[in-house]
Amino acid sequence: MLIATDWDDVGVECFRPFVEFFNELNGTSVKYEDLNSYYEMYNLFGMGREMMHKTFNEFYDTGMMNKITAIEGSEDLYQSLKDKGHELIVITSRPVIRIDDTLEQIERLIPGLISEVYFTDLPFIDNGRGSKKDICKTLGVDVLIEDCYENLESCLPHLQKGFLLKRPWNRNIAGLPRKVTRVEDPREILKYI
Ligand SMILES: [Mg+2]
Repeated sequence: MLIATDWDDVGVECFRPFVEFFNELNGTSVKYEDLNSYYEMYNLFGMGREMMHKTFNEFYDTGMMNKITAIEGSEDLYQSLKDKGHELIVITSRPVIRIDDTLEQIERLIPGLISEVYFTDLPFIDNGRGSKKDICKTLGVDVLIEDCYENLESCLPHLQKGFLLKRPWNRNIAGLPRKVTRVEDPREILKYI
């Protein structure tokens, strides 16, 4: 099968270190556990969407990329899927200026496991890179692993199965479609594939 994985908060920690960075920078006490919405996340940090993007770029500029660690269990998951003969790709909406850093990070953390990395637009920004849904449809992706339900949902018509990694921003989403399984630990996915 062709299995696609999102990268931030699926392959690597993202919002945990971001919250730390943000609080240190602003003297605030935002809690990771309180991040209960993905696309409205900027509200929880008390800023607009544009500012949120700017702050994210500052976060990346601090060299965090080299220190960020893999999500526990994700390396095992990717290795096992590869061992089972599946093809693995990453689909991420990280910005263009982070392409080199991202490729480097993936190769550092899970060398040789990912056959291709696709960079897409966010749903509300059209830079001509296409959406995650477009990539899933074009490539014929069978399975997508995501932490953002909105992203996963948009791709569902083209997938056989979707996995949602449990995160504060998807814990309140009830009534998941039958195709979607929510898991606590990435390794649980191996029970289904
Ligand atoms: Mg993500």
